[in-house]
Amino acid sequence: MCQQEVYGNLHQGCGCFDVIYPGNKLDCGQPNCGTSSAHAHRAYCRCPKQPQESRRIINLFRPMCDRHKAAQWEAAVGRRGSR
Ligand SMILES: [Zn+2]
Ligand SMILES: [Zn+2]
Ligand SMILES: [Zn+2]
Repeated sequence: MCQQEVYGNLHQGCGCFDVIYPGNKLDCGQPNCGTSSAHAHRAYCRCPKQPQESRRIINLFRPMCDRHKAAQWEAAVGRRGSR
């Protein structure tokens, strides 16, 4: 299976990985792999079409990402809220 390097930031608080930019694609050269340049099939094949993500961490953050922080905050406010 091919590998796609992705560079990004990992948030340990929620486990999210924000991709900043993609890196090299490593072609496995297998004819039974959908993302390889050596892929042999044309149609109706069941080969995997997604390369395996190989994460390269640029920054490691302990807190949650903004998205999860906002969601948590909203949940906390919503529980208390009386609308
Ligand atoms: Zn492959
Ligand atoms: Zn998150
Ligand atoms: Zn195939």
